[in-house]
Amino acid sequence: MTIIHPIPFPVAARNPPPAGHFAFRCNACGQCCNTPPLLTLDELLRFETRFIGVLALRRIRPLRGDFTAADLAAQADIDHSLLLPAPDGDALQITLQAVDYPSLQRCPARDDAGLCGLHADHKPLACEVVPLDALRADRLQHAVLASRQGELGDADCIAPGQRDGHAPLTDATDVVDPAYLDALYAHRNALATDKAHWGRPLYATLAAELHAPAVWTRIPHHGFFNLSPVPLVAMMAARSPQMAGRWQQFIDAQLTLIDTAVTDALVHKHPADRPLTQQLRGYADAYRALRPSLARASRTPHHA
Ligand code: SF4
Ligand code: SF4
Repeated sequence: MTIIHPIPFPVAARNPPPAGHFAFRCNACGQCCNTPPLLTLDELLRFETRFIGVLALRRIRPLRGDFTAADLAAQADIDHSLLLPAPDGDALQITLQAVDYPSLQRCPARDDAGLCGLHADHKPLACEVVPLDALRADRLQHAVLASRQGELGDADCIAPGQRDGHAPLTDATDVVDPAYLDALYAHRNALATDKAHWGRPLYATLAAELHAPAVWTRIPHHGFFNLSPVPLVAMMAARSPQMAGRWQQFIDAQLTLIDTAVTDALVHKHPADRPLTQQLRGYADAYRALRPSLARASRTPHHA
């Protein structure tokens, strides 16, 4: 016999959670670790033997819609600190990203138990802020959670209002968990440092190439357009013989990782992996072409 339960009176209608209040609890299900993370420059070097790194570009539209003047001002501050002005009124994010084969559907740092192998060892700052987004103002983080609640629905880690076992994370205008606030600010500081240290000068050298319609229109608003890190490596290595030597070491580490990854992919022959194999071979060729000049520069006396 089928028992038909009466439809419960909707709890939300009886006791709606206060707008913008969300609570969070991570049960380490790994659902948000099915792709490799974004990296800062320090992290790219720190994890040079673990992650294949690429340049990652994304266009970001200005905030539009039903926002208060305080929302818009707070977001404008973040955009000004972390993004670069771009043609067509968008902003550009230039960052670094680890990549791996799509058929694997995992971050290479996940261990055999599905847990983060870097959890206690300098986990990337981009991962420390999950499920928040360092590129959104604190007062808009509740909107980030509302959207991610849908994306991570199975994990059930984000709950509107309060829930037993979940810790309050946002209210209508703020992030209320001090550890998350620290993580957000640490990530933003690192991104601002990257922007000043290499993002802005690299963009200046690549702007003409990037703004060509054939390239610009391929840079998405959702997801990232990947480029070889070679222009970044060449720019950083030109700063001193010590830097040339350090980036030469980075190239060697990346070539080893790329060769291993491509060899494995050729064994598995997954059709979804072919574009990345092609891309990685191109990156490896570019690294091999650059390496001799770095070796020479690392042996040249530096005159400040
Ligand atoms: S999806 Fe949610 S519960 Fe799962 S690992 Fe990510 S943050 Fe934690
Ligand atoms: S580094 Fe760790 S937390 Fe970040 S995506 Fe990979 S497994 Fe997940």
